[in-house]
Amino acid sequence: MNILVTGGAGYIGSHTVLELLTSGHNVVVLDNLCNASAESLKRVEQLTGKAVTFYKADIRDRAALDKVFKSHRIDAVIHFAGLKAVGESVAKPLDYYSVNVGGSVVLAQAMAQAGVTKLIFSSSATVYGEDAPVPYKETMPRGKTSNPYGTSKAMIEQILTDISIADPQWSVVLLRYFNPVGAHPSGQIGEDPQGIPNNLMPFIAQVAVGRRECLSIFGDDYDTEDGTCERDYVHVVDLAKGHVSALQATERSGTHIYNLGTGTGTSVKQMVEAFERVTGVTIPYQIAPRRAGDLPAFWADASKAGKELGWCAELGIEDMMRDTWRWQQNNPTGYSR
Ligand code: NAD
Ligand code: UDP
Repeated sequence: MNILVTGGAGYIGSHTVLELLTSGHNVVVLDNLCNASAESLKRVEQLTGKAVTFYKADIRDRAALDKVFKSHRIDAVIHFAGLKAVGESVAKPLDYYSVNVGGSVVLAQAMAQAGVTKLIFSSSATVYGEDAPVPYKETMPRGKTSNPYGTSKAMIEQILTDISIADPQWSVVLLRYFNPVGAHPSGQIGEDPQGIPNNLMPFIAQVAVGRRECLSIFGDDYDTEDGTCERDYVHVVDLAKGHVSALQATERSGTHIYNLGTGTGTSVKQMVEAFERVTGVTIPYQIAPRRAGDLPAFWADASKAGKELGWCAELGIEDMMRDTWRWQQNNPTGYSR
């Protein structure tokens, strides 16, 4: 298939572009590079021996989108482009609603005009909300979100669902990611956060490589086995393969929702211990106050993706640690080295 990947230069996007190319698909990427480097796509081309057509443009730029759809016979769109920092979304809600919600609307309008009606969207486990029981199942209703980032994902899910109800030609696949971590086993592409990382895995990796002194563990007094929060960490390569598998769901009209997770929770302390065990590097840490908005524990019921898409996560926590460390050691300052 010919696939347009928005946000394809970013962390999950670049890994997905690689898996699409190795599965025989042709890929066009649109990304404004506000949180990515074009170097990621160069490396994907080196790793696969295949070319990627790249457009540097904003997802809200309708003329740029029209040009892409006129220049290529696109069969389906995988839509990663968006802003993703929870804390920043509280401070700058308009940016998040403009890029995430506004951008998705402009993209869907351009698709409709071009007659492209297959769309896979990067949603998040955050849409289950604060009060959902674990494990999260796709049959549960969306819950109360606690920040504009999460709300933007819930709003986009609703907008895309409404489009597929209004026009039965549309097929919308909502992929709800749990906690993506890790890097491609080549050590050539990986997560390259700007500034101080918000997320646990890149923070651990930067402490290990000497860029940060000490990890702060946000709370050890939760009602969990060791008192630290539990999350469902999923290897980014498994996640990327989930998108290739999800293309088959675009053959069916309507909206299809899938959790992409492993089905297992791992605590913050277990993550630190696993990293130390796999790499032999000690991670100094301190216990800090709880982070506002963190839930104690959640993980996926990932059985629907298994049954309907034949997808399940194959890589474990130790693979995630090994591959993160290889990427971080090869690229201590990310793509800017
Ligand atoms: P990322 O920041 O690495 O990738 C997003 C990409 O979108 C970047 O390349 C960025 O340059 C691009 N982009 C941002 N605004 C744009 C705009 N206005 N126009 C064009 N391109 C734009 O993030 P990621 O971790 O790869 O996340 C990809 C998607 O998955 C996002 O939609 C994110 O919300 C979603 N998601 C991520 C996680 C996670 O933990 N990483 C979890 C759940 C959902
Ligand atoms: N966390 C932490 N220290 C950090 C970053 C994260 O203790 O520097 C914890 C955070 O409180 C949460 C877990 O690690 O319990 C995963 O956080 P992350 O931001 O990676 O993902 P989230 O689940 O919040 O999207």
